[in-house]
Amino acid sequence: MRRVLVTGGGSGIGRAVARDFADGGDHVTISGRRLDALQETDAGRGMHCQTADVADETSMKALFDTPFDVVVANAGIGRAAPVANTSLDLWNTTIAVTLTGVFLTFREALAGMKSGGRLIAVSSIAGLHGEPNAAAYSAAKHGVMGLVKSLALEVAKRGITCNAVCPGWVDTPMAETAVTNVMQRLEISREEAKKRVFGDKPSGRIVKPEEVAAAVRYLASPEAAMVNGHGLVITGGET
Ligand code: NAD
Repeated sequence: MRRVLVTGGGSGIGRAVARDFADGGDHVTISGRRLDALQETDAGRGMHCQTADVADETSMKALFDTPFDVVVANAGIGRAAPVANTSLDLWNTTIAVTLTGVFLTFREALAGMKSGGRLIAVSSIAGLHGEPNAAAYSAAKHGVMGLVKSLALEVAKRGITCNAVCPGWVDTPMAETAVTNVMQRLEISREEAKKRVFGDKPSGRIVKPEEVAAAVRYLASPEAAMVNGHGLVITGGET
């Protein structure tokens, strides 16, 4: 039975990824800041729930007292703001959680990881191209891609891979918050706000969290042993 860690497992993509592994028979640990949210994700599946802030070195070290076979660095935050209105606090917090959090997660995971191990970051298409009104988030996700590609080269000889999934908009609380913010700022309906935020999608819809989980499952599989340093785009053809 593989030991799997998913950070930010209390909602959205992290919840779908954690449930996917647990339902497939893996032993899953989920971490996040709120125990009640983690327990809601578990919903009787027998996951180990541990509170930890990905931006906090001490709490991240405590997560890795026993080694994992698969580590999914999923936790991240993204708040919209044009560069001119991006406070230093917003910039620093976004980088701390969304980029440094992935670095701390992977660095701590490396120590005990054996051959066959899998490091997987939940990045974004914002890590592959620029995003207006989301420079801090896009910069953090570009940083994640640099980390993934560099670490892939460092771990390849150990039989470990390091990859990322790069989804477009996914139907999670993060996307819902973005829609609510636009709705309130422009005083428009939720439907109108959705059109503004998500735009026209080739497939006519945004991504489901379970579709991201399926991509993570593939990258974690033995069959993906030669996929390394890759960013797997999940957008329904948008990019
Ligand atoms: P979400 O807000 O539901 O999930 C983010 C999770 O990270 C939450 O559980 C939150 O509590 C946790 N988190 C935030 N700060 C943390 C911290 N300091 N320490 C530990 N946990 C923390 O949104 P989501 O869409 O599920 O986001 C998951 C990942 O997917 C993020 O990295 C996000 O950037 C990425 N992503 C989301 C979308 C999207 O459209 N929703 C698209 C591409 C990539």
